[in-house]
Amino acid sequence: MFDRIYRSTVLGVAGRRPIENLVRTRAWSVAARFVAGESSATAIAAVKELAADGILSNLDLLGEFVSSPETANAFAEQILSLQTQAAEAGVKPYVSVKLSSIGQGQVVDGSDLGYVNARRIVGQARELGGYVCLDMEDHPRVDQTLGQLRGLLNEYGAEHVGTVLQSYLYRSEADRDGLDDLRPSLRIVKGAYLEPESVAMPDKTDVDAAFRRLVYSHLKAGLDHPTQVTNIATHDESIIEDVKMFVVAHGIPRTRFEFQMLYGIRRDLQKKLASEGFTVRAYIPYGRDWYAYFSRRIAERPANVMFVLKGLLRG
Ligand SMILES: Cc1cc2nc3c(=O)[nH]c(=O)nc-3n(C[C@H](O)[C@H](O)[C@H](O)COP(=O)(O)OP(=O)(O)OC[C@H]3O[C@@H](n4cnc5c(N)ncnc54)[C@H](O)[C@@H]3O)c2cc1C
Repeated sequence: MFDRIYRSTVLGVAGRRPIENLVRTRAWSVAARFVAGESSATAIAAVKELAADGILSNLDLLGEFVSSPETANAFAEQILSLQTQAAEAGVKPYVSVKLSSIGQGQVVDGSDLGYVNARRIVGQARELGGYVCLDMEDHPRVDQTLGQLRGLLNEYGAEHVGTVLQSYLYRSEADRDGLDDLRPSLRIVKGAYLEPESVAMPDKTDVDAAFRRLVYSHLKAGLDHPTQVTNIATHDESIIEDVKMFVVAHGIPRTRFEFQMLYGIRRDLQKKLASEGFTVRAYIPYGRDWYAYFSRRIAERPANVMFVLKGLLRG
């Protein structure tokens, strides 16, 4: 319950325009802990730095809830360009996309613009041998995102597109079971949005237990399907230790799962797991529109508020 109150307070304060302006102008040095710069060049430099430690990357151009078709199309163009730049830099394009940033919910010429743009991005990823993960946003978008994922999986194949399930949503275990016929790779997360208790578990203990159940069921379901990968996206060491034991007990090869973490969080753990021979992938967010992402990271952990306040005082 404390987690929910804390999260709602921080996101409420962060959502006020004067606070946003203050943080945007004075706290870039703090945001830089979580965000790999504002340009694709700085993000690709971060990819190379992580690669030196044996850590793979997942690039994310920050932006969400875009309201005009022009902005959504411009955003999609930037993601297409990012995939090309990554390939040219010798990095397999692996990107995360928020469908709301490329027009989901905006109908143009009778089609959902988010889906039209997602087809362009996943189509290009297939040509380049890359992969696109559709990030999961707030709960009203889940049905449409899963529906659009189905279309993309049928057209481009599970090697090139997958999505995310959030363990805090009551519906996610049924959603996982419902996708089994298409054998998608899934990233399992706890969930970062402020959601009502009618759809999301308020108690962290329940969210953690549901996270384990989702990971274990997807790992087991993927045992006979070599392209189905379970992406275990958490910094929670006790869960990671349990997963390590689970995969040994069930004979699940290391090629069937990845540990995924966020840029700037638990780099020590990322390096340790990579040195133990696990696949580790860091989610590298970048771009000028970093404020909403940054606010969610601050809302995850009380210690981060002090970090921001110190940064503001330093200016
Ligand atoms: C690769 C990746 C992709 C994600 N994609 C999505 C998505 O598409 N949709 C979505 O809703 N959510 C997404 N998330 C966010 C996720 O839902 C959680 O909000 C976030 O990962 C924090 O939860 P946790 O599992 O790390 O565990 P927690 O139980 O919250 O934290 C465990 C430990 O992790 C460390 N930690 C966690 N968060 C922070 C932080 N902000 N700052 C510093 N230390 C921290 C601390 O050491 C903490 O004790 C993603 C997370 C990852 C790692």
